[in-house]
Amino acid sequence: MRAAIFHEPGSVTAGERPDAALRESTDAVVRVVLACVCGSDLWFYRGESPFEPGPIGHEFIGVVEDVGDEVTAVERGDLVIAPFAYSDGTCPHCRHGITTSCANGGFFPMNGDGGQGEAVRVPLADGTLVKVPGSGHSEVMLRSLLTLSDVMSTGHHAAVCAEVKRGDTVAVVGDGAVGLCGVLAARRLGAERVIVLGRSDPRWKAAYLRRRVARHRARRGGGSGCGARADRRPGRGRVLECVGTREAFDRQCGSQPTCPTSSTYPTNATVSISAWASSSGATRPQRR
Ligand SMILES: [Zn+2]
Ligand SMILES: [Zn+2]
Repeated sequence: MRAAIFHEPGSVTAGERPDAALRESTDAVVRVVLACVCGSDLWFYRGESPFEPGPIGHEFIGVVEDVGDEVTAVERGDLVIAPFAYSDGTCPHCRHGITTSCANGGFFPMNGDGGQGEAVRVPLADGTLVKVPGSGHSEVMLRSLLTLSDVMSTGHHAAVCAEVKRGDTVAVVGDGAVGLCGVLAARRLGAERVIVLGRSDPRWKAAYLRRRVARHRARRGGGSGCGARADRRPGRGRVLECVGTREAFDRQCGSQPTCPTSSTYPTNATVSISAWASSSGATRPQRR
């Protein structure tokens, strides 16, 4: 089958790989309908993080082509969303809703196939795949469903972890796909005012036009914590860190140390969490 293959920083090609096939009785094979590139794909593409040469892609939706004997939640022909991590849905972490920490799970393409290919072997299909109800979905709807494989779910997770409530002022650090989804999620949860800290004019305009967010353009290379201007009244401000870099994390911590926050900052880095030590109402960074 055809698939995107990472060779080394700066080098990704479309090439031939072995067809996706069942290996375990809990597997499903999904024929990919739509897939996309994640911001985290760019990290290894730029050489900023290590990555094994091979298949890539962890955001995809598709149609179930085959299932193992133990799979009961999905069947051939189902349209499904695959989250960026596969999980059993039954271990203690999964039962508490943190499926990205599944004791038996992993992250695509650790399964051997990437989402940026014609088909994917999905391990632990019952716990991983989410069936989409109905049929005959439009192209626009399919593209929206694709965001649920990562960016919209991550943005929503950030808003929930930051305890966004009706009437809040929310600062969203980052105007990439997760940041814009964080805007949508904050508004959906009732935020009265949303401030985006970003660098991209077209994205800011899209967010502004759709959700009437305020703008505070971040300066490249840091600067003072802009989120502090979101709202100085205790308990009203919320900060969502939606970039996943040290700079964004520091900006978030420095801006609102006494407000509930959430972060997409990855686990493999050393961070200062002193901001949380003095903040009883704060939420620790959410690992992913
Ligand atoms: Zn992603
Ligand atoms: Zn689990």
